[in-house]
Amino acid sequence: MKRTLYLKLLIGYVIFGILGFFTIATFTSRQTLHYIKSDTISNLYRESNLLAGSYASNYYRGTMTLEDIKLHFQAVATYLDADIWVIDDDGTILINTNEEILLEGNIKNFDISTFSSSYYQSGTFFNTFSEETLSVFSPITINYKVRGYLLIHKPITDLVLLKDGLINISYMTLAIIFLCAFVVLGLFTFTVYLPIRKITQAAKEYSEGNFETKISIHSNDEIGYLAGSINYMATELSTLEEDQRKFIANVSHDFRSPLTSIKGYLEAIMDGTIPHEMQDKYLNIILFETERLNKLTQSMLELNKYGSKGSMLDISSFDINNTIKMVVQSFEGTCKKKKISFELILTGHTSFVSADMSKIQQVLYNLIDNAIKFSHSDSSITVETTEKNEKVFISIKDTGIGIPKDSIKKIWERFYKTDLSRGKDKRGTGLGLAIVKEIISAHNENINVISTEGVGTEFIFTLPLSKKEL
Ligand code: ATP
Ligand code: MG
Repeated sequence: MKRTLYLKLLIGYVIFGILGFFTIATFTSRQTLHYIKSDTISNLYRESNLLAGSYASNYYRGTMTLEDIKLHFQAVATYLDADIWVIDDDGTILINTNEEILLEGNIKNFDISTFSSSYYQSGTFFNTFSEETLSVFSPITINYKVRGYLLIHKPITDLVLLKDGLINISYMTLAIIFLCAFVVLGLFTFTVYLPIRKITQAAKEYSEGNFETKISIHSNDEIGYLAGSINYMATELSTLEEDQRKFIANVSHDFRSPLTSIKGYLEAIMDGTIPHEMQDKYLNIILFETERLNKLTQSMLELNKYGSKGSMLDISSFDINNTIKMVVQSFEGTCKKKKISFELILTGHTSFVSADMSKIQQVLYNLIDNAIKFSHSDSSITVETTEKNEKVFISIKDTGIGIPKDSIKKIWERFYKTDLSRGKDKRGTGLGLAIVKEIISAHNENINVISTEGVGTEFIFTLPLSKKEL
């Protein structure tokens, strides 16, 4: 396709050239000759009228001799580059300025009526010329009586020569236009065709999955913008592809490890490597791994819901303080085991927020779950709500292991777990915070984290106060 675009243009130029030359050779040539002919005829006719009315009449009036008139006419004939004749009404030649054609006596078959109503004729003039000649005539009248005729003859070849000269100029003009067109084609090649070819080549590379190729066009025009946009698109696509690859690798890894251990224990139980009395212990491990797989699948399904279009939120007005209390209660058992206590610093009695209750419960669940998991035993977790600028700020603060500085930004990524946490929590999938982030973003709200390694972590997110409350 690339090559044909250029080829089409080239063929277009060649056709344009051929048609141009053809038009000049036929139409222009014919029109020019026609124009020269009619211009010459009207010039000669004006001249012949003038001569017939002045010098030629003088002869018939007897005031000038034929020799005197001939001398005058010869000068005019040289100026006009034509032959001037004076003939009697019966066809006798009285004056002929062309010395080379010596014509005497009568013109055979002379009959002025053959001119009919026209004042000129194109031909051999009663066979007196060997080549085609243009003959213009004016009658010489004395006292309203036609006494003779003044004729001016000019060979057509003279006109054709003039026409050829003009046509040659047209050919040269066309050649110059054609050359200019090639200069334009050259400019087009460098400014449009070559950049488009580069873009097409890059697009082909992208379609084959090679996003490394960059289009090196930096012009400040539409093509430059197009190249810039395509480069941007390629970068975005390559990161997207990279993310997807990472995602698949993580998913496969997280599914494979529990499956491998389940398979290993089941085989050991079946072939008797694990004695009957020990089986309970290993069946419990299998159950644990199965639960993990179940959780992983649930989380992925949950995340998938937010993936493309974001999820539909079921917004209602509810008391966030009450919701926090309920979620905290559900962790009582775990907290007792770890000897972790909760400190709730909540705003007044109620704080109604406008949000999707079940989703916010999930956010609280995930954040409190993390806080418990990464806290040392005998510690306390603080959950605090404050109202400010039509928002409620919800903070979950622990005094646990904290998050290393270089991991802070990554904790929101799917499957990310800090090295510190791996030892503390084997069950975690690393999807909890990714879900939290998606839910808060779906509400058009923000979530932030403040953490110091070895000191503790605080997550703060906002929710809009409900209109009821305001
Ligand atoms: P899941 O939530 O699926 O059980 P997870 O808790 O490991 O797994 P996230 O909740 O996404 O995954 O948390 C990602 C990582 O961020 C955790 O593995 C941990 O390294 C770090 N992190 C999160 N919350 C805390 C916290 N309160 N204190 C210290 N580290 C934390
Ligand atoms: Mg978590």
